[in-house]
Amino acid sequence: MSKVYFSTARTLRWNYRHSVPGKLEALLETMDLSSRFTEEDWVAVKTHWGSPGAFRIVPPVMIRKVVDAVTETGAQPFVTDTVRIKGLDYIEVANQNGLNHLSCGCPVVLADGIFGKDSILVKAGPLLGSIAVASAIHDAPAMVVCSHTKGHINSGYAGAIKNLAMGCVSGRHRDQGWQKGRGGMHCHGEKGLQWDKDRCTLCRQCAEICPLDSIEFKDGEFTYDGETCWHCGRCSRVCQEGALTLPQDDETFMKSMAESAAAVLSTFKMGKVVYVNFLFQIQPECDCMPIADVPVIQDQGIMISDDLVAIEQASVDMLRAAPPLPQSAADEAKLKPGDDILAKLNPRPLQLQIDECERLGLGIKKYELIRIEPS
Ligand code: SF4
Ligand code: SF4
Repeated sequence: MSKVYFSTARTLRWNYRHSVPGKLEALLETMDLSSRFTEEDWVAVKTHWGSPGAFRIVPPVMIRKVVDAVTETGAQPFVTDTVRIKGLDYIEVANQNGLNHLSCGCPVVLADGIFGKDSILVKAGPLLGSIAVASAIHDAPAMVVCSHTKGHINSGYAGAIKNLAMGCVSGRHRDQGWQKGRGGMHCHGEKGLQWDKDRCTLCRQCAEICPLDSIEFKDGEFTYDGETCWHCGRCSRVCQEGALTLPQDDETFMKSMAESAAAVLSTFKMGKVVYVNFLFQIQPECDCMPIADVPVIQDQGIMISDDLVAIEQASVDMLRAAPPLPQSAADEAKLKPGDDILAKLNPRPLQLQIDECERLGLGIKKYELIRIEPS
């Protein structure tokens, strides 16, 4: 049985130790980071920087607490993420969302370079073959994976597994293209984007959201540059008419994410990766979309563990047990206490990503939830 430490987001006393940042400090102490990291270690503090408009990320104050805890061990932390939109624009997104050198107390760098092409092919499983792991993560001896738990249109639930699988790899590999980047998980087969002219209203939302300006409409006809396209699926996600699709099936998606997570973790020695899940601002969609809807589940708290599978299972179990928030998408969908809110809002087999990670030996689902609360 793996240990998952948890502190609730509820604060019951006017005392710093009872604040959420104070509780995070106590949680970090339980992991005894100085026994895991050495003075020679450069430690990646991996978190999603958000998007223009997506501000419900792991709050900068929490990242700072993680950075400070790593610094205290004598190791050197850096806050990092992979390129999601044009690299220089993404650094500015981080800055606007409050993540910069001054606020974090350490460098904030793109893990795969400003062009998103600095990645190294790492052996993966039979679905992916290999995957382009961002070089700064590939080469870092240690990592703290700071994940915002939330819903997701493709994976149903997005937490630490997704932060590793998608967040630690490039959009495409420099030489071997999108098939070896995130697109290899999002798009199955060689067909690429499929456009249905009869359904299309020519609203052009797909073109507006494309981070690479790959989409054009010429004489009312959809075209896209299949060479530059990452096959990330953002354009198909915003198409409300169902006119744009990427060939994808849920099972392959979940299993390929697990393969990618395993490939990323294969670049670290045992015991060098710690997971912090922030069960805050649990919105229905991912932080990579240019919006942040109101939370569908109340803030639950913070979990910390060195077992990927256990912390993800514990997080999902806690979110499943929580009631829907009024005035949210869950309320609008008439969800009731006891409903699996994230699975109902984005009907995907979300448990499969966790089951598959366990099957690949990345941890165990059986956990002991240890509550850490100040006296
Ligand atoms: S978002 Fe959909 S409906 Fe709108 S232009 Fe693109 S394909 Fe057509
Ligand atoms: S999948 Fe769509 S949004 Fe993503 S890069 Fe390709 S055209 Fe752009």
